Amino acid sequence: MAGVLVLGEALEGAAAASTLEAIAAGRALGGPVAAAIIGDGAKSAAQDAIAHGADSAFVCEGGLGPEAAAAFAEQTAAASAPRVVLGAKALLDGSVMARAAYRLGAGLLQDCASVALDADGRLTATRPVYGGNAMAAFRASGSPAAASLRARAYEALERDDSRAGSIVPIEVDAAAHTRLRVVERVRRPQEGVRLEDARVVVGGGRGLGGPEAFAQLEELARLLRGAVGASRAACDAGWVPPSYQIGLTGRTVAPDLYLAVGISGASQHMAGCSGARDIVAINKDAGANIFKEARFGVVGDWRQVLPAFVDQLHELLSDR
Ligand SMILES: Cc1cc2nc3c(=O)[nH]c(=O)nc-3n(C[C@H](O)[C@H](O)[C@H](O)COP(=O)(O)OP(=O)(O)OC[C@H]3O[C@@H](n4cnc5c(N)ncnc54)[C@H](O)[C@@H]3O)c2cc1C
Repeated sequence: MAGVLVLGEALEGAAAASTLEAIAAGRALGGPVAAAIIGDGAKSAAQDAIAHGADSAFVCEGGLGPEAAAAFAEQTAAASAPRVVLGAKALLDGSVMARAAYRLGAGLLQDCASVALDADGRLTATRPVYGGNAMAAFRASGSPAAASLRARAYEALERDDSRAGSIVPIEVDAAAHTRLRVVERVRRPQEGVRLEDARVVVGGGRGLGGPEAFAQLEELARLLRGAVGASRAACDAGWVPPSYQIGLTGRTVAPDLYLAVGISGASQHMAGCSGARDIVAINKDAGANIFKEARFGVVGDWRQVLPAFVDQLHELLSDR
């Protein structure tokens, strides 16, 4: 098949984890993969991209706004004639994939959990629908076809520094493409691991009864080198900031372990965490929906269960 173009970004001089995941998805499709990397340190990020499975890379150093980034996508697509264009849903804060697809005249399959090619070489994809209660299958009719991928839908390939490929710098006339003016950038200080990148996420819900309880969840997350998230009910109550919200209208996480404390497991919440490898639930209601999704569950009051859990963890960690 003709190749795959992966739109990606450099974060602090390295390829973003989501970019490496998209490259893995591109490699699974079978064609040669070109990575198009934007951002400060794009060149060294391109080395990462190649070590993790890209065959070649285009780079554009420095920050680009979404319109200029879409122009970069168009220029790199003109140079590589891809059949499929992939990128993380969250690429440049989710502002690029739709613009890039429009410029390429490509259909866009959004928020995909998996992509594949059918017997005719057309791009197919699955994505959750109805608040995560069902998976729908889609097929793109045109070429090129584009898809944005959910966080951690694919695992990055192992790094192999013996891989080599061309890295081609591309100049984008950012001013010519920019109608949108960034007035201010506010960077929220990030303590610990980002929710989307965390291998362990501890989620708290209305059952916690108040904001104080989140301190215990923070302690647990610190011990497990994870991050804390929350249900919408806990966020709406003002116990934690809205940025903690996991779910249909919040963030999507796909950790190895999701520990849900005092969360009922409403479908809208599960839509944001159903990609977790294992769910462990603590809930006092044995009939709570979360137990249908959980691999392990404890029926009980979190006030009793959680301290014992944390103590046991301290003990296990001190043995190391
Ligand atoms: C359009 C739409 C979008 C939405 N998007 C989201 C979203 O993105 N994310 C999201 O989370 N929700 C979302 N919701 C809301 C969702 O439907 C639920 O209302 C919400 O997830 C419930 O949060 P909860 O599980 O914390 O609270 P509840 O449903 O009230 O559950 C609390 C749980 O805590 C348990 N509990 C109580 N006390 C204790 C205790 N002492 N020890 C242990 N367990 C205890 C209870 O048994 C109960 O199961 C959305 C809703 C709509 C309509």
